[in-house]
Amino acid sequence: MRIPDPRMVAKFMGMQVELQPGTALADLTSLGIGGVTDMLRIKKHECLPDLLNLLDANHIPHKFLGGGSNLLVGDGELPWVVLQLVRPEPDVVLDGNFAHVDAAADLGRMITFCAKNDLGGMEGLIGVPGTVGGALRMNAGAYGMQIGSYVREVKLYRAAGRKIETLRGDQISFEYRHTSFAPDDMMLAVILELPSIPFKEILHGIRICNEKRRSSQPLGQKSAGCIFKNPPGASAGRMIDELGLKGVSVGDARVSDRHANFFVNAGHASAKDMLTLIADVRERVLKTYGVCLENEVVVWNA
Ligand SMILES: Cc1cc2nc3c(=O)[nH]c(=O)nc-3n(C[C@H](O)[C@H](O)[C@H](O)COP(=O)(O)OP(=O)(O)OC[C@H]3O[C@@H](n4cnc5c(N)ncnc54)[C@H](O)[C@@H]3O)c2cc1C
Repeated sequence: MRIPDPRMVAKFMGMQVELQPGTALADLTSLGIGGVTDMLRIKKHECLPDLLNLLDANHIPHKFLGGGSNLLVGDGELPWVVLQLVRPEPDVVLDGNFAHVDAAADLGRMITFCAKNDLGGMEGLIGVPGTVGGALRMNAGAYGMQIGSYVREVKLYRAAGRKIETLRGDQISFEYRHTSFAPDDMMLAVILELPSIPFKEILHGIRICNEKRRSSQPLGQKSAGCIFKNPPGASAGRMIDELGLKGVSVGDARVSDRHANFFVNAGHASAKDMLTLIADVRERVLKTYGVCLENEVVVWNA
């Protein structure tokens, strides 16, 4: 979608919002799939209520992009604009065991920075690409831990009240790849409380997790991590593997040979290819196991 009215562009400048017209989302997502739209880059959290009122008044729908590592975006001209926070400097400030982190911060860099200051707990998340905001929204987790366990406070734009608010950690429910935030809420910043652990010990944990990922995931290929959530008590990857579906493809969309729950873009896959592959695999799993797999990947279909 293109911002139709040049007067809006002047208003964006006044709000310190930068317009990047005609942005190809294939370049901003880890799957390397996605069409074109205008992108608005936000330098000041405080402008969000005015910005969203302006977009709504002009009937311009929007989506919120973090690092693009859990997204399958539709092909062609997209019917909404994309909002993204600009990373401030510094993006992490430490105060004892509390890390004050901007939602635009890179998750891995944040974990490493905290580790160097003897604050750990999140070693399992090393290797999860994307931003801290995306990790909060998805309640990113791995190897028995999840980011939600460390959240003490979240600053967010709440769509219901159309204003910026702060929630305590115990007011938010963090479940397996699910949070109680409303779909249009935007994470702006978080305070994490992290245990004191010597850097050497954290580094040891990080190395173990890195090795686990390297040995089981197609890290050199374009993917969005796991496509499906694991159903209670079962592994989506194991079911897909048992059906012999590793390597199955639709166009350049392919079930990874290395990890059956990772679907990769092996060349120039379109969203249509990837969605067809997802639907085919879901159907096969349903037929054999009677389990309807739920997407972990977030689909922004055009
Ligand atoms: C190789 C690989 C390995 C992965 N391994 C794991 C893993 O082990 N565990 C795991 O949990 N995930 C994993 N993922 C998936 C992904 O990295 C995580 O879900 C990540 O937290 C998404 O963050 P992001 O910033 O990239 O979000 P995006 O992909 O940009 O967005 C994902 C969703 O969050 C929303 N969102 C993003 N930022 C914000 C914000 N500030 N406020 C509100 N909503 C927002 C988007 O609108 C969208 O709905 C993996 C992905 C890859 C490519």
